[in-house]
Amino acid sequence: MDDVLIVGAGPAGSVAATVLARAGVRVRLVDRASFPRDKLCGDTVNAGTLAILSRLRLAAPVERHALRIDGMVVTGGRGASVEGRYPADLYGLAISRRVLDELLLQEAIHAGATFEPGVSVQAATVTQAGGARRVSGVTASARGSVHTWPARVVVGADGRRSTLAFGIGLAAHPAAPRRWAIGAYLEDPRPAGSCGEMHIRSGRYIGVAPLPGGIANVCVVKPSGPGDPDLRDAEATLRRELNADPLLRDRYATARLIRPPIVLGPVAVDAGDGYIDGLILAGDAAGFIDPMTGDGLRFAVRGGEMAAASALLALEHGWAGVHARLARQRRDEFGAKWRFNRVLRTTVAWPSLVRLAAGISRVSPGLVRAMIEYAGDCGVARATIIAKRSTTEDTKDTEAESQFL
Ligand SMILES: Cc1cc2nc3c(=O)[nH]c(=O)nc-3n(C[C@H](O)[C@H](O)[C@H](O)COP(=O)(O)OP(=O)(O)OC[C@H]3O[C@@H](n4cnc5c(N)ncnc54)[C@H](O)[C@@H]3O)c2cc1C
Repeated sequence: MDDVLIVGAGPAGSVAATVLARAGVRVRLVDRASFPRDKLCGDTVNAGTLAILSRLRLAAPVERHALRIDGMVVTGGRGASVEGRYPADLYGLAISRRVLDELLLQEAIHAGATFEPGVSVQAATVTQAGGARRVSGVTASARGSVHTWPARVVVGADGRRSTLAFGIGLAAHPAAPRRWAIGAYLEDPRPAGSCGEMHIRSGRYIGVAPLPGGIANVCVVKPSGPGDPDLRDAEATLRRELNADPLLRDRYATARLIRPPIVLGPVAVDAGDGYIDGLILAGDAAGFIDPMTGDGLRFAVRGGEMAAASALLALEHGWAGVHARLARQRRDEFGAKWRFNRVLRTTVAWPSLVRLAAGISRVSPGLVRAMIEYAGDCGVARATIIAKRSTTEDTKDTEAESQFL
């Protein structure tokens, strides 16, 4: 039996696997996909996420394959446009998820995790012990047959539509707003600069990120639902949205699409406070708010690390208090950002609020710059860098002392 079975080899699953394998735990990571695989995302790694990757010694290979991002440009229509640069010592990255996720997975394998692609998990195995329900493994189909995979701890890192979280009733889609995303790669031989872009319009927004190789990642997030003809012809919808936008029309009028767009939705997922022993959720599976603030990867990377710490606690001391501690930690570290995201998500849904915000940004661009820094998790980056420095200094001191012992 595995000590820990992690379902989903996205950033949350791979980081959890790396941390656990480094701690000497027998960890198996499974994914229904084979890697490298595409994943619809804005492809920006903000400053806070990068600092956490660096603390985990996972940043170096990622930086080698990425473009540096120095901040964000936010536009609100009617000429409102604010560029917010990250403070001089901080930066983010732009890297396709095909590359990023493969690099993080390879780090997990290198650390000692066993990886199995092509394993599609269908449900958690729930057993009854001493009157309490707990997860004791999963049922999954692989290579044409269905197996049960027992594990002492299951980490559900299976993304927004998490089979495990939805299956057990720990997640639901919020009633409103219901937005869908269309993401594509376009040729972009003359990128606008070294910033990511967020173009906020009534009820919708368009994110743009320059990627290595003269390519732009373009994501349109708009109100929609299943059966919407706009989603059936995603390329036509994407082109129409770009052509209707005075700022983007000329840049992408003749740009070639690198491959067919990916469609995904509804984007937001709410996770409740529920839990079940045996199962720990991480990344989008633990709740995904809205991609507008471009910080889902921080929740995934840091959330994967927290899930690994919780799994270690459960393996060593049992499940008492594990979920309460994890929920507290997630609230402390993520709570303010979740609230910020909810306010923005509501603002975008109301045309009058978008107009008001555009007006405010014209008279008070400093406020928007502060929001860009906050969205970029610059405070988290600072705190992580300082904590890392002091740990390194402590290690050096201990090593120096031990030479004299
Ligand atoms: C339009 C859009 C733009 C975004 N832009 C950004 C951005 O610029 N910056 C940022 O930080 N965040 C962004 N995000 C958020 C970010 O993409 C997610 O937060 C991040 O991918 C979460 O990582 P994860 O590991 O939790 O899940 P995922 O990356 O979704 O990985 C989940 C893995 O689980 C596997 N899986 C799923 N179900 C099963 C199953 N039943 N059995 C086995 N395997 C399974 C999948 O194949 C996948 O590999 C964006 C999101 C969207 C929708």
